[in-house]
Amino acid sequence: MTTDLTNPIFTDEEAARKHFEAIRWPDGPICPFCGLVDDAVELKGQSTRPGLYKCHGCQKPFTATIGTVYERSHIPLHKWLLATHLMAASKKGMSAHQLWRMLGFGSYRTAWFMAHRIREGMAPLKGAAGPLGGEGKYVEADTTYVGGKEKNKHRNKRTEGNIGGKGKQIVHTLVERGGHAVSNHIANVSGKTLRPIVMKQVSRKSTLMTDTAGGYMAMGKEFARHEMVDHGAGEYVRGDAHSNTVESYFATFKRGIVGTYHNVSEAHLKRYLAEFDFRYNERMALGVSDAARAEKAIKGVAGKRLTYRPADKVANT
Ligand SMILES: [Zn+2]
Repeated sequence: MTTDLTNPIFTDEEAARKHFEAIRWPDGPICPFCGLVDDAVELKGQSTRPGLYKCHGCQKPFTATIGTVYERSHIPLHKWLLATHLMAASKKGMSAHQLWRMLGFGSYRTAWFMAHRIREGMAPLKGAAGPLGGEGKYVEADTTYVGGKEKNKHRNKRTEGNIGGKGKQIVHTLVERGGHAVSNHIANVSGKTLRPIVMKQVSRKSTLMTDTAGGYMAMGKEFARHEMVDHGAGEYVRGDAHSNTVESYFATFKRGIVGTYHNVSEAHLKRYLAEFDFRYNERMALGVSDAARAEKAIKGVAGKRLTYRPADKVANT
């Protein structure tokens, strides 16, 4: 099921609200104050805005957007839905400029804020995902570097020694073959940094596939099996030992970060990682359609902490 952009949910506010309520409240309205399910009345009247409910338990009024990243937004719901569908369906992401043009609404700044809030909806809830791998399963771990290439900068703007990994951001990704990915922005590749990430997110019953980075050596012994491929020595595949899955993840991620977003600031990298992990984990190959993926992103806007203030810098995409 692909996204039908002529669907009224993308143009009509009432249709958009009904769609959002159906996703948010599959069993009827839930009062955000006392938690009562399906025991509220929709208030009607000339001076009442549509979608305002009154709880029969605590008597408080509420709407479906309370407690979501859409709360207190002046952006119409149908624009949120359109933006979410566009971002969810774009494999390499969508720049705020592109989003702004396609929405035909607001300013670049509005589109930028919307994109970041939509990424929050795509981020997993804390503790929601189980560990990767398991018995008979393979989990590949690898790192990649993103950030300004020193050789592309004007000579007098280059920083001494800022070549290769230095001055760049390090991204660490774990991918279960045929399964999900979890990416983290890390400070360095030491065992001390890698250990808590790998130990917390990978089942010990898995076969762990890594390169020969020293940080993996000790922890590798705690897994059912640990294979290392020595990229430095030109070795990439040895039987079932390889990191092709995580390499392929990085290829898409880099095409997005470099091609679509033209690199991202350190402060926001985590949110872009959530976006790329989300699309990978809800991918077509696992049976998730564009429309179903967007629905998950919309469902994800609930229960997320609001972290954006108007004072946040717009220039940092
Ligand atoms: Zn209530």
